[in-house]
Amino acid sequence: MWYNERHMSKNVKLEDIVSLSKRRGFIFPGSDVYGGLSGTWDYGPLGVQLKRNVMQLWWKMFVDERDDMYGVDAAILMNKKVWEASGHVATFTDPLVECSNCHARHRADKLEDANKCPTCGQTGTFGEPRAFNMMFKTNVGPVADENSISYLRPETAQGVFTNYKNVVDTFYPDLPFGIAQQGKGFRNEISPRDFIFRDREFEMMEIEYFVHPDMWQEAFDHWVEQSKKWFEALGLPADMVHELEVPEDDRAHYSKRTIDFEFDFPIGREELMGLAYRTDFDLKNIQDHSGKNMEYQVKGTNDKFIPHVIEPSFGVERALMAVLTAAYTEDEVNGEKRVFLKLPEHLAPVKYSVSPLLKNKPELVEKAREVYAALKKKYGAVMWDDNGNIGKRYRRQDEIGTPHVVVIDFQTLEDGTVTVRDRDTTEQQRVTLEAI
Ligand code: ATP
Repeated sequence: MWYNERHMSKNVKLEDIVSLSKRRGFIFPGSDVYGGLSGTWDYGPLGVQLKRNVMQLWWKMFVDERDDMYGVDAAILMNKKVWEASGHVATFTDPLVECSNCHARHRADKLEDANKCPTCGQTGTFGEPRAFNMMFKTNVGPVADENSISYLRPETAQGVFTNYKNVVDTFYPDLPFGIAQQGKGFRNEISPRDFIFRDREFEMMEIEYFVHPDMWQEAFDHWVEQSKKWFEALGLPADMVHELEVPEDDRAHYSKRTIDFEFDFPIGREELMGLAYRTDFDLKNIQDHSGKNMEYQVKGTNDKFIPHVIEPSFGVERALMAVLTAAYTEDEVNGEKRVFLKLPEHLAPVKYSVSPLLKNKPELVEKAREVYAALKKKYGAVMWDDNGNIGKRYRRQDEIGTPHVVVIDFQTLEDGTVTVRDRDTTEQQRVTLEAI
């Protein structure tokens, strides 16, 4: 059963997160005015900031702060040979069943009861599952024929593998080294569901870490540790994250070892990210299909081999959903229920909000504008918020996870101090303007 003692409310419900996300301008259903498009979501002003903070933190930790990592940004549309060589055209499939009664289609391996249609409730109406390829197919250029077929990438990894040689030939990195990429991935999921958990368009952050074949285990352990550091930086309580050693039968075709990191989402314990040992599968395939040599030569030696790969694969939406789940908190303030997002400060979309105590006092407004401008210059993510009374402003900022609310009052005009209210404790402190 799902339980986390950090929360004053014991059970975070998915509806609460979905409703707060919409109400406060984080995440909206995609194409909402036209009734939506299943499996797509749009990020509002706060959502895009939160998402960027997550992605930038990842880039900082895994690219900027390391000296063995190279970033790339490959095109989403790639030559179809990429997906033929990688095995995606043949095997990137989920098992699909169709109900003979209501014709609803479902993913066979995700059904609660393999015999019962969740749409109409009939049993025994499914035939044999068939393999449904999840790649979105399109044509590149004005002629729609076999030769112009391409796919929206279902993972960013292939954009890295196809650039492996470019990076080696331009940077001569020593092994082990990694290539990192962030960007959109597209999968025509049979049943997108559970808010942003399973989407048809989503954002990925992937690393392909190239190692000597004898070193894969060491590198794998390294990435287990690094992944845990990442969860910590996201503010996810360690007891809500779980390691699942994926048995051979359930592993992707290319993987010799996989650990799924699972998280206690409101929908239950589900995959947050995956860590896979992909051997030399991808580079070898590229070598075979392209005829280009993918071997790595150790400097100053004749030692040549195709490097093996450890791949930590992070999904941004699942990270966001985990962050929101961990942060969503309810407590009571002065006998009233309060909802707040206990986001780590480095992730909060707004760091400070600023307002005059009373908005009909021009001298307070003027001073508050001055403070706002100075803070905005320094921190960027600063919001002007003078709507409603001060209590309402606190509640609103709590709900969007703003760690500090600065209020300018008459004393500010006299001694240059302001009140700063802390989101988590709700305590107010008088501090000098210089202090913030
Ligand atoms: P699942 O078993 O849940 O379908 P998967 O094993 O197919 O996921 P991977 O191929 O390992 O997922 O993808 C790597 C990561 O990308 C996942 O851990 C997840 O964070 C993210 N991801 C994959 N599919 C989706 C999706 N449809 N929507 C949102 N994120 C996704």
